[in-house]
Amino acid sequence: AAKYGKDDFQKLITWKEGAPVPYALLADTFEAIAETTKRLEIVALLVSAFRAVLASHPASLLPTVYLCVNRVAPAHTGIELGIGEATLIKALCEATGKNEASIKKAYEGSGDLGVVAVGARSTQRTMFTPPPLTIASVLKSFRDIAQTAGSKSVDHKKGMIVKMLAAAKGNEAGYIVRSLQAKLRIGLAEQSVLVALAHAVQLHRHGADNDTGRLAERLEAAAQVVKQAYSECPSYDILIPALLEHGTADLPQHCHFTPGVPVKPMLAKPTTGVGEVLEKFTDSEFTVEYKYDGERAQVHVLDGGKTVHIFSRNSENNTPKYPDIVARIRPLLKPHVRSIVFDSEAVAYDHDKKKILPFQVLSTRARKDVAVGDIKVQVVLFAFDCLFLNGESLLHKPLTERREALYSALETREGELQFASFKTSRDVEELESFLTESVEAGTEGLIVKTLKDTYEPSKRSSHWLKLKKDYMEGVGDTFDVVPLGAFYGKGKRTGVFGAYLLGIYDPDTETYQTISKLGTGFSEEQLGQLADAMRPHIIQQPRTFYRWSDALEPDVWFDPAAVWEVKAADLSISPVHKAAAGLVDPSKGISIRFPRLIRVREDKSPEDATSATQVAEMFSNQAVIRRQQADKAKAD
Ligand code: ATP
Repeated sequence: AAKYGKDDFQKLITWKEGAPVPYALLADTFEAIAETTKRLEIVALLVSAFRAVLASHPASLLPTVYLCVNRVAPAHTGIELGIGEATLIKALCEATGKNEASIKKAYEGSGDLGVVAVGARSTQRTMFTPPPLTIASVLKSFRDIAQTAGSKSVDHKKGMIVKMLAAAKGNEAGYIVRSLQAKLRIGLAEQSVLVALAHAVQLHRHGADNDTGRLAERLEAAAQVVKQAYSECPSYDILIPALLEHGTADLPQHCHFTPGVPVKPMLAKPTTGVGEVLEKFTDSEFTVEYKYDGERAQVHVLDGGKTVHIFSRNSENNTPKYPDIVARIRPLLKPHVRSIVFDSEAVAYDHDKKKILPFQVLSTRARKDVAVGDIKVQVVLFAFDCLFLNGESLLHKPLTERREALYSALETREGELQFASFKTSRDVEELESFLTESVEAGTEGLIVKTLKDTYEPSKRSSHWLKLKKDYMEGVGDTFDVVPLGAFYGKGKRTGVFGAYLLGIYDPDTETYQTISKLGTGFSEEQLGQLADAMRPHIIQQPRTFYRWSDALEPDVWFDPAAVWEVKAADLSISPVHKAAAGLVDPSKGISIRFPRLIRVREDKSPEDATSATQVAEMFSNQAVIRRQQADKAKAD
């Protein structure tokens, strides 16, 4: 028999060798992960779970990974969990025989339906014992639930949930309920899952040798390969079978960029002026493009233009939102193009004035089931990169070649599809005036790209730098922060939140760290809207992966749910805030002063928030600039 679990917190789970792995293994692993804040421990727990799966029933690995990342399918398929509370409460009543009032009361007490589900189960007696849940059966039910549509779908979903809950034992019901809500929130980030996956596969295939130094190296190399493969092809449906069959060494040949599977965008680092750009790129040739302010559109064209998909920054399928774009692509393909994937920005456009319009105009455009005839906000596409052409991935080619490919493959038409405006120059004055020109043309500024480097999906690369005209003196960019908590309003603001506690994300420690309190600059209407948007995310306790100070304890805590773009005056070392703690000062964090909300970033998820490293880099940039300014003042 296969078995799993040995430590104090885990019970021993046994099952038939070669049979689907019990869900209990995963529920116990989740429980252990939720209890630790140490990333290495989290990875170790996952590695041992994955190895148990690999050793006994490798086909359970794919469902295991999906359940760990709390998804049922790749992001671009749009198949998502997120069952509402009302349905879950009803299902809990039916599965446990309790009435709605008592479930609701328990929910009010704990604020966590998962806890309610576990508590309700322990008093429940059943007539017969359903077979234990398996990892594969739970994922299958989740998928069925996510894909059920139509008039009777709510009842149907509820029925499937009741069945699962009736079979759940011990802590299982809790994780089932939280997963269905898409709120697993045990502090398990996707990067840890990828690292653990790489380690587990490597150890399973090659075992551990006696030389621990070499082993650590091998595991690190395997993790890099898996992370790279997933960034080029973010689909576990492709990654995991390839890993199982070929291991990590040959993975790049079997899991690589694939049309139809969108990659996350390559991102730029902020800079504070042309001088800094020239300094950073002393030895590299670069080109400078307008940074358009719209919505990222990664366009995948197949079958000579018969199939066109448009994906957002977050890999959502935006094809139904842009039927106008879809219709214009085919006539603009040059005759030799059978397939192409290009990156572009969709920007609102005024055809009469031949002018691009601000992002705010684009944001009023309908999102779903758009009919071409109903479209009020017209858009133009500015193409700036080419990732794939006629069966060949160009991700590993230099920008010069990718640009040539782009220009060779598409016709342009004013107001429909244009190439991003660019300039190639090293002259300070020329670059300064191009920056001014870009802002006058209604863009965010410039993005500076080295010509010889490859496309690095989902990476904030030092090969791309951004130069915004409205940069705050010495800071260089806005911040994408996550509201982690809020303070009740007083006076006029009673009933809404008067201020918010903001955090950034540190992917290295997988923690959210506070950076500021935001309490000014809102309109009353905006305060109401923000409060309405955040209330459903209130949690009873701060998450174990939050870092904050008791000196600034909010009245309510939120799950990481929203991303807000804020502008700030400057960064300073803070006795209170925890952002980038340990990176600049050994113990103190960094805070931003006088934050102002610019917009809610619906196209970003909390893990895309500004990172701790970025905050530290911006702090250092600011120090350099201040020194330069002081030196200049002295010289003058
Ligand atoms: P934001 O999205 O708020 O600008 P960010 O830090 O998340 O901030 P950046 O690195 O600043 O992202 O910019 C990358 C994004 O800029 C791309 O995803 C794309 O949507 C947009 N963009 C607009 N014009 C260009 C361009 N010429 N080249 C590359 N990206 C561009």
